[in-house]
Amino acid sequence: MADVSYKHCHLVLECAKCGVLNYMDPFTFWNWSGKTKCAGCDAIYAVTYSNGQKVKGPDAADGKPDRLPGFAQTKDYKTQYTSSDKVAPPVYARDPANKHGPTYKNVRGNPVAAGKLTAADLRGSRARFIVEGVPYKPAS
Ligand SMILES: [Zn+2]
Repeated sequence: MADVSYKHCHLVLECAKCGVLNYMDPFTFWNWSGKTKCAGCDAIYAVTYSNGQKVKGPDAADGKPDRLPGFAQTKDYKTQYTSSDKVAPPVYARDPANKHGPTYKNVRGNPVAAGKLTAADLRGSRARFIVEGVPYKPAS
């Protein structure tokens, strides 16, 4: 296999020591400056990105990493680094454990039907509690 260099890639940090490809992902790396750690050999690099473009680095550094890469793999695609001490967990807009439940009132306090309704909760095709303007009480 041809030896491909990723040194020109902006958001792929190719480790100079072990050759592991560290993906500076997700978008939070686009405007970021700090220290990151190679997932393959734990070498510390100082990098600076602006608008998703590499501005400075990667330069060898010391100390603790500010942020871990989002994903890393070897160039032959046979080894992936997914453990939390090597790469950062994905960034969620909302905690996956805190899912959005059924909602019957919006932030302004107006009734909305964003949850399961039974046939008895409907008047025609509209939710009965909205038509009547009373707070929703599930039929038990
Ligand atoms: Zn490395």
